[in-house]
Amino acid sequence: MTTPRIEFDLNKIRCNTRHLVQRLGQRGIGVTGVTKAVCGHPDIARAMLDGGVTGLSDARIENVERMRRAGITCPITLIRTPMLSQTDRITHGCSDSYNTELDALHMLASSALRNNRIHGVILMVETGDLREGIMPGALEDIARKVINIPGITLKGIGANFACLNGAAPSAQKMREFSALVCEIERACGLKLETVSGGNSANLPWAFGRESSGRVNDLRLGEAILLGVDPVSGRRIDGLFTDAFTLVAEVIESKVKPENGKWLAAEPVTARIRIVSGRKQIRQSILALGHQDTDVEGLTLPEGLSLIGATSDHLVIETADVCLTIGTEISFQTNYSALMRVMSAPNVEKVIRNLEPYKFDRLPEQSQSDLAMA
Ligand SMILES: *Cc1c(COP(=O)(O)O)cnc(C)c1O
Repeated sequence: MTTPRIEFDLNKIRCNTRHLVQRLGQRGIGVTGVTKAVCGHPDIARAMLDGGVTGLSDARIENVERMRRAGITCPITLIRTPMLSQTDRITHGCSDSYNTELDALHMLASSALRNNRIHGVILMVETGDLREGIMPGALEDIARKVINIPGITLKGIGANFACLNGAAPSAQKMREFSALVCEIERACGLKLETVSGGNSANLPWAFGRESSGRVNDLRLGEAILLGVDPVSGRRIDGLFTDAFTLVAEVIESKVKPENGKWLAAEPVTARIRIVSGRKQIRQSILALGHQDTDVEGLTLPEGLSLIGATSDHLVIETADVCLTIGTEISFQTNYSALMRVMSAPNVEKVIRNLEPYKFDRLPEQSQSDLAMA
């Protein structure tokens, strides 16, 4: 089989999605599946839809267009603030988009009108992550303007947490967000369809005892794909953390002096030190590197440890075992490593369980979760 390759089990993605959809459904919150980490891979998008997401979101129009070309017709929302240079592609490919800039809204509106469409607008509000978002004090003014621009319709308000500054949303922050939504609705005299409270970092809040307030949507990528809470890195109960496996191949195995870094720096002393009996270790090289993934985000199998990596080589210490050439090594990835792998053209994408599961052949772990429905 080709290496390097990323294998993904669509049943595990379906199970993770279904579990989150059911648990959040009990709190009145729907799930939008976020496909940016998998570059809008259509089979993964469909697995999310099988699991019950209400729609999909991606940060890049290219990924949205990939899903459309594959025949996915559900609502897709652009979650990154639109580029002016892409407004036509956005109104064409996306039912809605998240917005923070009036200029972009005007461009989206005229593009939508030209194409005989109405484009849905969700206004992103700044809640402390200090990435994208309209300052809360400016929201009402922009909301009133959006209502009066033909071609676009004010569909909702969204918040985003823990992307840039890594802080999970507090109960207090979420109460403030709901209060702001109510205020805008009163001021504008309308009821908003979508109140999107955030991303996977919101799950501890959403599963907690606090009221979910006005929030009726979360945009989930990492929790569905990797089964973990992005802030703590911990597994979320009932979810698979091994839907994705990265496989790479050993191309060299030798015994070499430990820590080769200083060898290159000081060739003369290096030679002396080797003679003086530097510790020898078993190391292997895998055909994988920075060009394929975020090496820092890989979890190695027991007994193997990372020595270092370059663009095309991953050097590991193998302690007592000697890995023969051609041996395949499997890794788990974090979100950033997964994102790089999925966008690397040289990493083969291998799909497991393309067909949806039968209910009598579920993986062990999830049966009780599904029985909750
Ligand atoms: C990436 C992103 C998400 C999804 O975040 P996860 O941590 O993968 O759940 C949601 N909203 C916005 C605006 C994003 O950029």
